[in-house]
Amino acid sequence: MSDYLVKALAYGGFVRAYAVNATETISEAQCRHDTWNTASAALGRTMIGALMLGATLKGEDKMTVKIEGDGPADAIIVDSNGKGEVKGYIKNPHISLPLNQSGKIDVRGAVGTAGMFTVIKDLGLKEPFSGQTPIVSGEIGEDFTYYLAVSEQIPSAVGVSVLVDTDDSIKTAGGFMIQIMPGASEEIIDQIEERLKETTRISTLLDDGQTPEEILQSLLATTDVEFLETLPVQFKCDCSKEKFASAIITLGADQIQELIDQDHGAEAVCAFCNNKYKYSEDDLYELKQEILGE
Ligand SMILES: [Zn+2]
Repeated sequence: MSDYLVKALAYGGFVRAYAVNATETISEAQCRHDTWNTASAALGRTMIGALMLGATLKGEDKMTVKIEGDGPADAIIVDSNGKGEVKGYIKNPHISLPLNQSGKIDVRGAVGTAGMFTVIKDLGLKEPFSGQTPIVSGEIGEDFTYYLAVSEQIPSAVGVSVLVDTDDSIKTAGGFMIQIMPGASEEIIDQIEERLKETTRISTLLDDGQTPEEILQSLLATTDVEFLETLPVQFKCDCSKEKFASAIITLGADQIQELIDQDHGAEAVCAFCNNKYKYSEDDLYELKQEILGE
């Protein structure tokens, strides 16, 4: 695994910054879901954003990002956590649109320009935290930026980018997130804004062989960068045959008997990772007995 995320502080702690190389992670999502190029970029960008937001959480805490727009993607659902793990899917993986006017993958065309951007954080408290903003761009990076500004009141710049090869495989994928802490001077903000305007896409920088550390150093326009932590990141799903068995049990004994009689078994497919779990007639019979308490 060469994928990792770096966390850093700059400008005497007034700026918090993250950068990630998620090429293998997004490649795995592309393979698992057989996404076509536009869908790969839409899902990949969402996963990269979720990885960076997830990196602001503590170890066991987890979160979900949902993008529900009016485009052909339908919905994009991504789970991440404070350990650098991410899983996700796009409801319609087979989207391949013509390039947009700037010659880039038309992610906005897949996501749409109207709809909701939702973040749900499970911080181990009684109630999960939930924040929602309208989709403002459909290009996803700007939607993360808008969500952070409006829902969490953190002025940020988020860049997420996926370079898809001509054979639909993922060439590079990565992103950055820069957050301005309260009390930061206008000078600092101006300096970073100016630099961001002239910055090339992060997937191109990764393709040129730059590391997340080098990218952050250059984005922050200062040598005063303190790297705090390196977090390995990966595609990871926590589904199992047992977990889906619990879902089958909730169908009830009669329904399970129907599966035995009519289908002679059952198959569950995990939406997040596409793993398939097969249940034989004997498996189903056992689950039914569990319900009946025998
Ligand atoms: Zn799974």
